[in-house]
Amino acid sequence: MLIPQSEIDRIKSEASVEQFLVNPKRQGGFLVARCPLPGHDDTTPSFRYNLAEGWWKCMGCGRGGGDVIKFACAYWNLSWPHDFPLTLERLGARRGDPGEHRYLPPAIKGTAATPTRPETGPRLPDRAAIAVYRAAADVWATNLWRLANRDALAYVRGRGIPDALTRSEWIGVSTDTLGAALRERGLSLEIARLLGLLRRDGHETFAGRITFVEWRVVGGDWAPVWATARVYGTGAAWDEERKYLNVRGDRLVVGLDRCRQASEVVVVEGVGDRLAVLSFSDAAVSLGSNQPSSGMYAELRALARTRRLILLGDPDRAGRKGRTRTLAKLDLPPAAEAYLADLPPTVGDPGALLRRPDGAALYQAAKERARRVDLARFGRLVAACRAAYETRTAAARARTRAITAAPAHPALPKKEVIAMGD
Ligand SMILES: [Zn+2]
Repeated sequence: MLIPQSEIDRIKSEASVEQFLVNPKRQGGFLVARCPLPGHDDTTPSFRYNLAEGWWKCMGCGRGGGDVIKFACAYWNLSWPHDFPLTLERLGARRGDPGEHRYLPPAIKGTAATPTRPETGPRLPDRAAIAVYRAAADVWATNLWRLANRDALAYVRGRGIPDALTRSEWIGVSTDTLGAALRERGLSLEIARLLGLLRRDGHETFAGRITFVEWRVVGGDWAPVWATARVYGTGAAWDEERKYLNVRGDRLVVGLDRCRQASEVVVVEGVGDRLAVLSFSDAAVSLGSNQPSSGMYAELRALARTRRLILLGDPDRAGRKGRTRTLAKLDLPPAAEAYLADLPPTVGDPGALLRRPDGAALYQAAKERARRVDLARFGRLVAACRAAYETRTAAARARTRAITAAPAHPALPKKEVIAMGD
């Protein structure tokens, strides 16, 4: 990669640290904001950016530098000066024409695999717990392909999930045999109980459900670290039981590490929605519900640092509201790329695309119509809404105080009790 000096100069004059800050405030010659750098979960605004000279410094984590390129390198968790050219490219530098004066960078090795760890992401299970998860994932996935469980496989196929995806995603079914399998393998039943995989009575929590396992890279290897399970089939169970049951422990963004090679990630709500996007050969993560945990927001923010996020969902009011709330809580800097994509109202959720012959076409069309969110404007809007909300609640509190402070009313005459019905 060859980047001309003119491009470096252009980047320095056009890109700004400001683009990476969330709600920066002007203080003299500085912009002050919460530190946006990875590994620092800043609660007070510790980050200073000098507007006139371009240098920046975090008073919390101590990092600092002279310009936007050094900043971007830290922001994307790249190594300095090794990843100087990659940083420039991400900031929008173009390769040069032959003959132009060039900066010739050293060769880049393995930068694509640079892990970007979340600020305060969810906690992953330890080795003993992973061994239990591994056994569970194995038992469940094997179960699904047994003749005795053909109704479970028929359900998965009925949802339109291709067999190849069912296998690569380790979709399974729980038939209450995990306890025996753990004993056979010499693994701890107590840990399985603590994880919420086994109940006190030794039966499986997920018995009779379709199982989904989350895989993450732990210590360089893929490991199952979390699971969720869905009821299937028809019958009374549908009305009485919760549709999904999760294991204990921190909730995770499902499919996060599977997206590490992608430059664009589709964000959906349900596990089934994610499978639909995967079946169209795109990268996707699912949030499990429309109210992710704070650790999951940290994971999503880390993802948004280096990738374009497309929030895909229902065009109905609840679907839109959920995605807008996710965006508001994410607090992404203006430099991040976030898109909102709506499916046609007749489709419903993305998971439904799997059962439609025109699913792939509808999905592509929704992606093409996706609108980029102007995050600077969106951030100002969210801040204005929060301020208006605070003013309203303060006024309401003042009214309550005025009422409770007022002298008591004279006793009102008791109303007659009117008998209802017959
Ligand atoms: Zn910092």
